[in-house]
Amino acid sequence: MLELHLTAPERESPASGPEAGETGLYDLIVLGGGPAGLTAAIYAGRARLKTLVLTGYLPGGQPANTDVVENFPAFPDGVAGPELARLFLQQARRFGARLETDEAVRVDFSTRPFAIHTHKATYQGRTVIVATGVVPRRLGVPGEDRFFGRGVSSCATCDGFFYRDRDVVVVGGGDSALAEGIFLTRFARQVTIVHRRDELRATKIYQERAFANPKIRFLLSTVVEEILGDQTVNGVRVRNVKTGESRIVETDGVFIYVGMEPRTELFVGQLELNEQGYVVSDRRQRTNVPGVFVAGDVQDPLYRQIVVAAGSGAIAAMEAEKFLGEYPDVSNQPGSKAL
Ligand code: NAP
Repeated sequence: MLELHLTAPERESPASGPEAGETGLYDLIVLGGGPAGLTAAIYAGRARLKTLVLTGYLPGGQPANTDVVENFPAFPDGVAGPELARLFLQQARRFGARLETDEAVRVDFSTRPFAIHTHKATYQGRTVIVATGVVPRRLGVPGEDRFFGRGVSSCATCDGFFYRDRDVVVVGGGDSALAEGIFLTRFARQVTIVHRRDELRATKIYQERAFANPKIRFLLSTVVEEILGDQTVNGVRVRNVKTGESRIVETDGVFIYVGMEPRTELFVGQLELNEQGYVVSDRRQRTNVPGVFVAGDVQDPLYRQIVVAAGSGAIAAMEAEKFLGEYPDVSNQPGSKAL
């Protein structure tokens, strides 16, 4: 389930939303409003495709919940994540894409044009780009569900402020854990990063900064086995995987950054997915269904960078345009099965 955070940089006015039961035929429907989907919309708009983007409820995608982005090219001093998200949205709108703060709840890729059902409407797309991204992975330990939103979080930019002068635990050893752990030191008294191995996965620059930060301490080769609390979190039970020793670490909050999972539940049985649930595509971002393309983290277990997501979005849109050029008559009529 997608987490909804109310700190999105901008939201479409509900008044601009579709009417109940509305249908509309689009050359391209983009599912997802992160860097991949919005880059696809920029390219599609410039190709003069009639384009609809269903942004979901965090327009701008993951950057909208990121403090600062330092590795997106052409921002030598970095850019605030919400600002980058706003710029992506602005640029997509500039070239004519219609952006709706809505999400698909059901898709039908067996009919042409493709049918996309949202909470409010049904749309028809002659082509579709799936750019639904990823959701944070849960740790799967006792206490996690019970305290989620009451001391357990996976969004430091949303919830970090609540931990002023308090102690927090961050679980994970990747870029997210370290970047967000460093961010949390702006508020927290102490940040304890708990990582299951004795070597961190994160990029070296994050490691250097975290090691140099006096507010951060590491518990390596350690796993969190339980999140403890009463009304809210007051500790975690951890175990050192080398010694087997268990102990309780007192904390006011737990931030979980143990990776991401592709958001593909809508496509089960319709698109080819790999064993981890990512959409399978070729180098031209084509899925196994002609006319359905894919871009961004939902098809990328390896790189998962904003610049890579944006690049794949551009490819997907160019391929969608090409597809419509090659099959100009296909998908024009509701209910058509022809290709
Ligand atoms: P990630 O790179 O997959 O790292 C996940 C971390 O969680 C790993 O250290 C992993 O341990 C640990 N982990 C996984 N499952 C666990 C479990 N069940 N229990 C305990 N620990 C567990 O995920 P991420 O940090 O969210 O990053 C995702 C992608 O976004 C990456 O490609 C990353 O480069 C990118 N990203 C980039 C930036 C940036 O460049 N500014 C910032 C954030 C994210 P192991 O190491 O042992 O596997």
